[in-house]
Amino acid sequence: MNKKYLVRRLLIFPILLTGIISFNPTAHAGFKPRVHRFADEARVFVNAYLVETEKGIVAIDATLTVSDGKALRANLEFLRKPLLAVLLTHGHPDHCNGLAELIGTDGVPVISTVGVDKAMKTYYDAAGEERGRAMLGEEWPKKRIFPSKTLKDGESVIFGGVTFTVHDLGPGESHSDSYWVIEGEEKIAFIGDVVMNRVHAYLADGHSTQWLKNIDRLKTELKDVQRIYPGHGEPGSLEMLDWQKSYLETYREVVKSLASGQPKLTDDAKQKLIAKMEEFLPDKKGELFIAQGADAVAAELAGEQK
Ligand SMILES: [Zn+2]
Repeated sequence: MNKKYLVRRLLIFPILLTGIISFNPTAHAGFKPRVHRFADEARVFVNAYLVETEKGIVAIDATLTVSDGKALRANLEFLRKPLLAVLLTHGHPDHCNGLAELIGTDGVPVISTVGVDKAMKTYYDAAGEERGRAMLGEEWPKKRIFPSKTLKDGESVIFGGVTFTVHDLGPGESHSDSYWVIEGEEKIAFIGDVVMNRVHAYLADGHSTQWLKNIDRLKTELKDVQRIYPGHGEPGSLEMLDWQKSYLETYREVVKSLASGQPKLTDDAKQKLIAKMEEFLPDKKGELFIAQGADAVAAELAGEQK
């Protein structure tokens, strides 16, 4: 791995340690879980999280590239506690590609819902692996790791004295989304790509209608959550759900008007879609996703009109 890159990561990390911790250390004597965010700042602004418990670390998701998987592992080692498990929010490669580098020889469980495990195997079929390698070359991992344990909706696992409960959302941003909640003195949630906070949305799986329903569902279910950790972009509060809803509604409206009932957009229409969404979110974060989702959403809307 590029040494400069690793050094930069390690320098950034202490800042994250102080900047991202959201727990009140004076509330009572016991050890409070701390959340360390690892953000990919170069490609798709995807997050992985290291939840530090008293006895070890639980990772949530595992980065897009081999280099980021290695850097996430270096951050884990910086904390000087063992890795206990990896929990997945969904099966998209930008959340699972770094698993082998993160886990190394630790042999810890990788846990997801039944639906996430199933969807992940479709993203990593032979064609998916080939596409990924064509896109990322050596940054696409050679070794593939799938969940070793699956949970049903509402089931929990305990690591380092902290209870992690998973909630199955079904199709949304991916073919199967889920979110994880830690309940303690403060309640926090890791919601995967239900929110891509101020990053252009990936809509190519074609479930934007269900995605919007999932957002409404979480507006109720996360009402008493103190902090939300999204799959991309900055962590924050419930407000990010409204932002995501408005992004998706705008995208759907623009596609609808450009597609005129057809299940595909012309190249010219895709350029117009990109321009419109860059007006909505001028930040160029994840802008490659805009055109990728166009046909899937056009097909979805055309199907709904029938
Ligand atoms: Zn993602």
